[in-house]
Amino acid sequence: SKIVIAIDGFSSCGKSTLAKNLAKKLSYAFIDTGAMYRAVTLYFLRKGITDFKGLSRQRVIDLLKEINIDFRFNESKQFSDTYLNGENVEDEIRSTAVNNAVSALSQVSEVRAQMVALQQQLGAKKGVVLDGRDVGTVVFPDAELKLFMTADPVVRAQRRFDELQSKGVEISLEEVKTNLEQRDYNDTHRKEHPLVKADDAIILDNTNINREEQLQLALDLALE
Ligand code: C5P
Repeated sequence: SKIVIAIDGFSSCGKSTLAKNLAKKLSYAFIDTGAMYRAVTLYFLRKGITDFKGLSRQRVIDLLKEINIDFRFNESKQFSDTYLNGENVEDEIRSTAVNNAVSALSQVSEVRAQMVALQQQLGAKKGVVLDGRDVGTVVFPDAELKLFMTADPVVRAQRRFDELQSKGVEISLEEVKTNLEQRDYNDTHRKEHPLVKADDAIILDNTNINREEQLQLALDLALE
């Protein structure tokens, strides 16, 4: 029978690659929870808001009401794209501006509450793979399979750097490293829903294994 698979871990550990491929193999839905925080961040940035801490609760609630996020299947990519109020923002939510702001906005309690509710709603049918930071601890604490991904920070920075380079983004390896360190710090130190391994999560360190080996490992666990 269908299960819920929660994949959490640090930034740039290959969580979404694994989650996507796992979902495809199992014919499950894939839910990228990070993309949701990114889409909200993009909306706030477009409104010219950069000081997230200075916002009142009510202002955040009002802004969130203006935001509709959904995922639509992209035939040519064979994966879903993220839509913000009907606009495909899949590329823009991966921009440096969003990378630099997302973990700060993710600390806002009203934002988390709304995203968690949306994720629970999207995953309610089971047969889903979700990737994020708090899926196994907060969103689906009863998920049948929880994976916690990690990899050497140097390897992660290099992988993210290569990925950005291939997309033509101009950024230095040093900048990529700093952004990853900052996000990891923010994600593990925030008061609400910090990034932490769920007690019953299985650690997957992919420093030295390739995508295929990792996928096979996860598939074996899912089908156990
Ligand atoms: O997974 P991704 O790197 O796209 O996530 C972007 C950011 O969104 C993370 O650095 C984190 O601050 C936030 N996030 C979160 N909770 C999640 C998923 C992402 O706070 N479940």
